[in-house]
Amino acid sequence: MTHLTILYRGTLASCDYDCAYCPFGKRRDTPEQLRADRAALRRFTAWTRDQDHDLSVLFTPWGEGLVRSWYREAMVELSHQPNIRRVAIQTNLSTRTTWLDAADPETLALWVTYHPTQVAYDRFLAKVTGLKVRHSVGVVGDPAHLDDARRLRADLPAATYLWINAEEGRVYTDEEAARWQEIDPLFHYSRFPHLSAGRACRTGDTVVSVDGDGTVRRCHFVPSVLGNLYDGTYRDRLGPKACPKLECDCHIGYVHLEPTGLYDVFAGGILERIPR
Ligand code: SF4
Ligand code: SF4
Repeated sequence: MTHLTILYRGTLASCDYDCAYCPFGKRRDTPEQLRADRAALRRFTAWTRDQDHDLSVLFTPWGEGLVRSWYREAMVELSHQPNIRRVAIQTNLSTRTTWLDAADPETLALWVTYHPTQVAYDRFLAKVTGLKVRHSVGVVGDPAHLDDARRLRADLPAATYLWINAEEGRVYTDEEAARWQEIDPLFHYSRFPHLSAGRACRTGDTVVSVDGDGTVRRCHFVPSVLGNLYDGTYRDRLGPKACPKLECDCHIGYVHLEPTGLYDVFAGGILERIPR
């Protein structure tokens, strides 16, 4: 093995925001849960240091990670590690950004989501345009957010990719979809779930999902276990595998589904969702 992509999701499930479309809004983790999440993340970063191959890591917490010091520290630490090609995180960017000054901007990247009901527009725009690290910015395709998304597209630098995620459960008419497609020329990839049954997907081969206990699965959406990261049992089970699910409707999954061709579309920025 020369390189492995890891989608890491620990137990952290709390968030400082309260988005109507999310079950984690304003959830609290107990002090014990936070301590366990911190210990698990430290164990994971220590493991990455011992590997003899390259790694790319995307943190996909249930809640918001960057309000916790241990995620910021892990991102900075990993960004300087020679065997880390990319370290990225999905974030609402609510936290201050000065900590990023300590990171290697060639390696660290952010997948930023703008939540219009949770943060003042000008505040968000100032923060995101002040970023000195690679980032994409996105909005959930709720019709109530259309004007905010258009405004954001107009105000962001042309080189900053603004993605639109189809809202879960929403069926878009062609007319509605065209409005979002104007903002995000790649919206058609998100509009419908991708038929994936029996199709080649890189997860389970060159991409894996890892939880706080080190349990390795092919992706966040297929529950069967490949092994454990810390006892190495997953290694022998890596290899090309077809998707066992009917469809895949989340970007962090279907970007790895080979027939989508998205590794070409996002070449160089697969984890942080930045097109070539
Ligand atoms: S910011 Fe993200 S995790 Fe937090 S409530 Fe909104 S959607 Fe959920
Ligand atoms: S296509 Fe999606 S659900 Fe299927 S294995 Fe790949 S990431 Fe998992």
